[in-house]
Amino acid sequence: MPIRQDDNRPSRRFGLINLLLIGFGVLLLFSNFLPNPATQVPRVPYSLFIDQVNDDNVRRAYITSDQIRYELKEAPAEGAPTVLATTPIFDMELPQRLEQHGVEFAAAPPQKPNIFTTILSWVVPPLIFILVLQFFARRSGMGGAQGALSFTKSKAKVYVPDEESRVTFADVAGVDEAKAELTEIVDFLKTPERYAAIGARIPKGVLLVGPPGTGKTLLSKAVAGEAGVPFFIISGSEFVELFVGAGAARVRDLFEEAKKKAPCIIFIDELDAIGKSRAGSMGVVGGNDEREQTLNQLLTEMDGFAAKDKPVIVLAATNQPETLDAALLRPGRFDRQVLVDRPDLSGRRTILDIYAKKVKLAEGVDLDRIAQATAGFAGADLANLVNEAALLAARAKRTTVEQGDLNEAIERVVAGLEKKSRVLQADEKKVVAYHEVGHAIVGHLMPGGSKVAKISIVPRGMSALGYTLQLPTEERFLNSKEDLEGQIATLLGGRSAEEVVFGEVTTGAANDLQRATDIAEQMVGTYGMSETLGPLAYDKQGGSRFLGGANNPRRVVSDATAQAIDREVRGLVDRAHDRALSILRHNRDLLERISQEILDKEVIEGDELRTLLAESVLPAEAELAA
Ligand code: ADP
Ligand code: MG
Ligand code: ZN
Repeated sequence: MPIRQDDNRPSRRFGLINLLLIGFGVLLLFSNFLPNPATQVPRVPYSLFIDQVNDDNVRRAYITSDQIRYELKEAPAEGAPTVLATTPIFDMELPQRLEQHGVEFAAAPPQKPNIFTTILSWVVPPLIFILVLQFFARRSGMGGAQGALSFTKSKAKVYVPDEESRVTFADVAGVDEAKAELTEIVDFLKTPERYAAIGARIPKGVLLVGPPGTGKTLLSKAVAGEAGVPFFIISGSEFVELFVGAGAARVRDLFEEAKKKAPCIIFIDELDAIGKSRAGSMGVVGGNDEREQTLNQLLTEMDGFAAKDKPVIVLAATNQPETLDAALLRPGRFDRQVLVDRPDLSGRRTILDIYAKKVKLAEGVDLDRIAQATAGFAGADLANLVNEAALLAARAKRTTVEQGDLNEAIERVVAGLEKKSRVLQADEKKVVAYHEVGHAIVGHLMPGGSKVAKISIVPRGMSALGYTLQLPTEERFLNSKEDLEGQIATLLGGRSAEEVVFGEVTTGAANDLQRATDIAEQMVGTYGMSETLGPLAYDKQGGSRFLGGANNPRRVVSDATAQAIDREVRGLVDRAHDRALSILRHNRDLLERISQEILDKEVIEGDELRTLLAESVLPAEAELAA
């Protein structure tokens, strides 16, 4: 799509004034350096002058406030100058002394101030000040400064999709669920009347969540392209400005512009740059005023716009959804979240197809093999891979891209990715597979109203190497003690599987353990679920302003109670661990089978997963452990 900078270019007039200012400045500077006739007269020390007066060698003197110029009766040496100058010092006796020695002397009349210099000295400094200010404003990225101090104009670029260059859903592959959800948004934008007529509220914000390079930006452009509406794009970091308050003003401008062009899309990339949880940044003294103001403005604007038939939909992207302020995720703001994950095998295959069409492939190139070898690659990595292969082929002076080029390109891209620790070695992949299947089997057998929906060993995010997705079957607000115990067991299922299969554990379970321990602590400290300790809340509530803030500190308790709490937490986790172990030992064969299956396919979900998990059996001893 053509990029059109929102254009309010600085006017010509301004260029002219700047030039004039610079001219004045230069003039002022030079007026001090203009050749001054006085400087050509040799300067001598004041004491010498007095000596010469005392020697009656001075004919006449001309005294000004900063110089005494005098003429000698005879030169001290052959050819030496007879007109000399000296700097006066405060000397009340000078007139008397000169008179005594018969020197003819006169003082300069008081200097009439030069109108021109006076004006200059009054006018130029403020002008220079303005000039400097303007320079900074310009540098802070103000494309369209309309006045000297308007550095708040929004910097958003506007894309207006035109026929040949527009991006559509056909250009994005491997993220089918995300596309399905966004199709609805396209519909809102295309026929807002239909929704308005029935009284439905069109969602205002959609948050695209996913690791870098998975096509979030591309998808949002595709939404605009499909709907044929203008598309404002701005990065969250562009709101965060040098001047406090500028970010907020910029948000206001952006929404104002967008409302004029509605229906349209505002896309805020890197939302986390402004939307970081305010609770997390508390305690930093005055550090985050600017971001907070910007965030507040964004929240206000999202609450504000309401024209039913002219929707402005805000799409935003982030790869750190967990850092976002809870206020952003409330209903009426970014209440829809769309996961844009790394593609699975078939997704990678379709993405490769898209990019392979753009280069000349040799006969018989097997893209399936490439798709298999690129687990963990995001869309951007695959695009890069095909391009690298084409470069390699061109370097070898071949006219088509061959299988070998693609293989070599994989190695290159992997080398780049490994630094970011995203690509798994074969043995690591095996551990991850068993680990995830462990979660899935235990999770399937545990109560708690959630069912395992998907197991994936496609690395995801910076830390998770695989994941097991559990979807609640119904919305739940209350969890029983049994549910929570089941959750802890499920979290420990991964580590337990590693123990059962490999007899040792890896670092992969760190996050699981963290969460399991958190739940156990809350059970004892917050929900009063421990029988020995009774229904007391040992954790203090509150303390943080926003949801999901810092951990709660413990109430003041005796040492004995503190020890009892620790013992109780430990006991809960230990029991859950035993339970997970016994379940996995009992279902050892199934664990093996599903793990092998997932090593081939990377992702198992839907009916296939359900049939596999249906075979699992809850052993009697696991029930006892509960
Ligand atoms: P993100 O915004 O998620 O970091 P981008 O949308 O900027 O990722 O993706 C960068 C580039 O990678 C895109 O311009 C596109 O060429 C390619 N790409 C990424 N994901 C996909 C995808 N799912 N399908 C096709 N191309 C993709
Ligand atoms: Mg992006
Ligand atoms: Zn795990």
